[in-house]
Amino acid sequence: MQDYLKGLNDHQRNAVTTTEGPLMIVAGAGSGKTKVLTTRIAHLLAKGVDAFNILALTFTNKAAAEMKERIEHILGSKEARNLYIGTFHSVFARIMRSEAHRLGYPNSFTIYDTDDAKSVIKTVVQELNLDVQHYKPNAVYNRISGAKNALVGPAEYNNDYHIQQEDMRANRPMMAKIYAAYAQRCFKNGAMDFDDLLIKMYELLKNFPEALHKYQHKFKYIMIDEYQDTNPAQYEIIKLLGAVHENVCVVGDDAQSIYSFRGATIQNILQFRQDYDDVKVIKLEQNYRSTPNILTVANEVIKNNKGQIPKDLWTENKQGDNIRLIRTMSDNEEGKFVADAIQEQKLRNHYKNKDFAILYRTNAQSRSYEESLRRMNIAYTIFGGLSFYQRKEIKDYVAYLRLIVNPKDEEALKRIINYPVRGIGKTSVDKAVLAANENNISMWEVLENAARFGYKAGTLQSIEEFVTMIRSFRSMLDTKNAYEIAFHVGKQTSFVKELFNDKSTEGVQRYENVQELLNSIKEFTETPMSEESGEVGDKGLATYLQQITLLTDADQKDPNADTVKLMTIHAAKGLEYPVVFVGGLEEGLFPSGLSINTREELEEERRLFYVAITRAKGRLYLTYANTRYKFGSLTANEPSRFIDEIPQDYLDRSFAGGGTRNQSSSGWANSNAFERMKGAGSSTGSSFARKAEPKPEKTFVSSLASSNAKPKEVAHTPSSNFVPSDIAELQVGSRVEHQKFGFGEVVKLEGSNHNPVATIKFDVNGEKKIMLNYAKLMIQ
Ligand code: ATP
Ligand code: MG
Repeated sequence: MQDYLKGLNDHQRNAVTTTEGPLMIVAGAGSGKTKVLTTRIAHLLAKGVDAFNILALTFTNKAAAEMKERIEHILGSKEARNLYIGTFHSVFARIMRSEAHRLGYPNSFTIYDTDDAKSVIKTVVQELNLDVQHYKPNAVYNRISGAKNALVGPAEYNNDYHIQQEDMRANRPMMAKIYAAYAQRCFKNGAMDFDDLLIKMYELLKNFPEALHKYQHKFKYIMIDEYQDTNPAQYEIIKLLGAVHENVCVVGDDAQSIYSFRGATIQNILQFRQDYDDVKVIKLEQNYRSTPNILTVANEVIKNNKGQIPKDLWTENKQGDNIRLIRTMSDNEEGKFVADAIQEQKLRNHYKNKDFAILYRTNAQSRSYEESLRRMNIAYTIFGGLSFYQRKEIKDYVAYLRLIVNPKDEEALKRIINYPVRGIGKTSVDKAVLAANENNISMWEVLENAARFGYKAGTLQSIEEFVTMIRSFRSMLDTKNAYEIAFHVGKQTSFVKELFNDKSTEGVQRYENVQELLNSIKEFTETPMSEESGEVGDKGLATYLQQITLLTDADQKDPNADTVKLMTIHAAKGLEYPVVFVGGLEEGLFPSGLSINTREELEEERRLFYVAITRAKGRLYLTYANTRYKFGSLTANEPSRFIDEIPQDYLDRSFAGGGTRNQSSSGWANSNAFERMKGAGSSTGSSFARKAEPKPEKTFVSSLASSNAKPKEVAHTPSSNFVPSDIAELQVGSRVEHQKFGFGEVVKLEGSNHNPVATIKFDVNGEKKIMLNYAKLMIQ
């Protein structure tokens, strides 16, 4: 038996070696589904199947990269680089690079990210003389995206689909028109948005038999991880692609279906058996990831959902500790508790930072964790922040590159036509847009023929110089790689120089970011890629741009860095960590207040909870806060109903933080933000010592010892300043002392979670609005 088969259990081995015919593996979390898929690909390659004939679809590109690495490791060869492996979007984008022309797009089409797409929506809404406040780009984008993923085009939108969405029809009757105009504009710009990558792929296979035939024969083996989260468009594409060879292997867990809001439906799993004649179904029931305690809790929770496919998950792993359930006074205390617990676990059990994950329902929750981790000097990486490629200076630079590849790309053109300033002002740009619309040509074509459109001499000259410059860049496309062109652009345009000359902190940072961009382009041109013959421009600018546009946030950060990982539960799919914290287990937050109106919604929230629990290998902490800032005001919370669904003997309950709060003002002052800012938090005693002897209702007082220390390798710098952790204690009526304004009383609390604002009536200085992130307040 081959070595790679030896470590598998019988069911897993069976799944790996059943290479022919449709195969479905439905199994619970941590049972080795992803491992089986990886090993199966290695097995196919070992049997002599050509890597070019294998299509494997994963949840992130990083997951795909890891799979490739493991396969290379198993086989001891580089063959895996030739696989068609990645997310649906990235694999289809790759195919579209050689097929888009069939649909009337240039093969060098641009991929619009969500920002680009929303900007186009805004433009078309305005052009239709509609109110942007009413047809908000974000909401419109989501609606269009939903329709696309359900394979509903602009023409069908008004009929069946729209009618189902009563509210939308009544409130936004022009949606179908906007949808049509948006689709038309993208097409004219030679651009596809993320959803287009799926629906255009579908259209390609559906309407071009030649293309269908080609890819049906090419992909002799198709494998899909996380199949429970595929949407109808993805499902239909797979059905078409797999129809000839029928070697389609899907792995999934109906209990982990968490993307129904994006149009995914677990019907896909149920339907699979009907789509093919002889579907073999394999169940994997042994869990290799978690302790029996964690597993029991997960199993018990998910039992509250109706209609799950029955699964019996067991493990041989060691019993492990009970699940810890911690109540805190506030979200800030929750953050402190988690940072303290991480520190404690590192000392006691020799964990590294990278052994911990903090999971939450919404991104906004990360703030209190970030602050506490920073204060404790614990390095962390947060997933879900502003991505590198969304920064302004990077978007500007990339806009040049996009325009070079596709001059029809109106979004890119508008972004840089007058950046750096070159005398082509807003009026001239508007004129070009109008002329383009009237003549049904692209804005670029207007500029190329600017003399015909009545521009003033000065502007005309600026436009002609600009066109000449872009053309000269374009002339390099066939001979130069992505880095050579990008470098040249940086030298020829003055905006990089302007950044260089800006010596402010932000300016220096922006310049460094641009350098980083160039480094990454260089790296791209130096990394070996697929050897597929006939694939043009592997190292070219178009391929590079496609790759960066399709990077998800999770792809951009190093999962192996020794940092605590912070992310939403959605982003944690498929991952595992020795110690997991799940925060904010409060009614209205988890389950989300937006998702408890129907049984379906509530069940999806519960599946999300199941996903969260099952990320943990050894230790699981669940936390909830009595009070939390929501939409600017402090709210009191009930514990999540999910807590009641956990068998209570599996829980160790405790209370953390705030022990000194309800006592005298002196106790309070000790953990007060003002004191800490002044560096007067002289309580150097470690909190761990206090925590060493477990008591039923423990009082954890966060360590102030490290509050003055500068965080070292913090992988992410949050945009907000230091936020005094105790502002959550502030209430209307609290008496406070301000460093400058003296004593006063809080009369109003407002602002956002990130930027809370208090109106304080000062005894001497009158009423003032104080931003709590920056104020130095002491509560009396
Ligand atoms: P999820 O549902 O969360 O995606 P999964 O079913 O894909 O989980 P994997 O991530 O493949 O599970 O495996 C979970 C863990 O168990 C991994 O660390 C994997 O290496 C390990 N594992 C799986 N099968 C075996 C095995 N036969 N022997 C030892 N370890 C295994
Ligand atoms: Mg998996």
